[in-house]
Amino acid sequence: PARPVPARSAPKPALVPAQSFESLPGYKELKLQRSAADLIGLGNPFFRVHDARAGATSRIDGQPFVNFSSYDYLGLNGHPEVNAAAQAALATFGTSSSASRVVAGERPGHLALERALAAHYGTESCVAMVSGHATNVTTIAALMEPGDVIYHDALIHNSVVTGAQLSGAQRRSFAHNDLGALESLLHATRHEHRRALIVIEGLYSMDGDAPDLAGFVDLKERYGAWLMVDDAHGLGVLGRNGHGLHEQCGVEPGRVDIWMGTLSKTLSSCGGYIAGAAALVEFLKCTAGGFVYSVGMSPPLAAAATAALDLMHREPERVARLRRNGALFLACARERGLDTGTSLGLAVVPVILGDSLKAVTLSDRLFKRGINVQPIIHPAVPERSARLRFFMTSEHTPEQIRETVTALADELDELNQGGSLVERLMA
Ligand code: PMP
Repeated sequence: PARPVPARSAPKPALVPAQSFESLPGYKELKLQRSAADLIGLGNPFFRVHDARAGATSRIDGQPFVNFSSYDYLGLNGHPEVNAAAQAALATFGTSSSASRVVAGERPGHLALERALAAHYGTESCVAMVSGHATNVTTIAALMEPGDVIYHDALIHNSVVTGAQLSGAQRRSFAHNDLGALESLLHATRHEHRRALIVIEGLYSMDGDAPDLAGFVDLKERYGAWLMVDDAHGLGVLGRNGHGLHEQCGVEPGRVDIWMGTLSKTLSSCGGYIAGAAALVEFLKCTAGGFVYSVGMSPPLAAAATAALDLMHREPERVARLRRNGALFLACARERGLDTGTSLGLAVVPVILGDSLKAVTLSDRLFKRGINVQPIIHPAVPERSARLRFFMTSEHTPEQIRETVTALADELDELNQGGSLVERLMA
């Protein structure tokens, strides 16, 4: 029999060769920004190498700095009790959990931390994971799926957006802290979806403001949604004792379905946690990829976080000092006519400049005066909200705060004196 003639296939287009990493669009923009900064003699404000524990002060290149770039809100990083707890765990368990807790098993320090966090929120249970970012991503991706909907604040952290994208659920953002905008969205779209999750933060890390928790609880109850609060920056900061957004707003923590937080701020460690119902935690421990397929927390880091949480509860005067420092910074900044946006004057105070070049220049000038503070520039924020962002700690002194605001306002006045900034910097 005649052999079948193979059908003539259309010629395939030539393969595109693998491209160089330098051609990635984000990389090109970065390089362009850096070259522009080099041209006008501005140092790189990012990735500075600290040779000391970075809290209210630090050392960079052997020089002392007043530091406003660490989340060490209550000055607990390096505290003798925190270090001792980490060292004891280190001596017994070494540095690593060496595999996922599912297979390598628990260490007592994991369970102690989770019990302490569950007790803090009055929840049935808690699970701690190796990274705050990964905690949001994996929790949201495990809980939600196509057909569901996630409503989140427009300024929500990247990890929530990434988790929402990964989940395949519909993602809808509402204007920052705007209960009316969320209610309109819920009214118009909630019925189209099976499960709904609302995600907000406790203290917003760019603006230093906080939501009206009671209002969000009311909406989630009326529209049949779960409410998740990422209180990464609220723990140790919000409420008279620093217990978090619920204390600040006078709302029972049990009215929030999912409490999320990180261990990298007030708790001077590294990792994230979810506190809530036993079924939620059990579900995540069996299904969330970032927990099941990732190593358990390093035992010394778990012990450090537990010790820091204990100190936070025992020494509320740290919270009071932090809050006084934030209020002082805000008052001094306003007195000098600086734009601090919607900041409540707690742990985060931005000074909004509306110009990335101005923000980088000001950061550079302050650095030369012994003050370390980072600019937040486009594309991290829209150009009109480019800013310097100050993180307060309980350990800053009132003098350091007053001197910083004076230096900042004086340098800004000087920069604002006539002519284009680029021309003056190039001169
Ligand atoms: N949530 C919020 C609100 C954050 O600001 C951050 C990071 N600063 C994270 C989650 C991620 O936490 P971590 O840095 O501990 O991974």
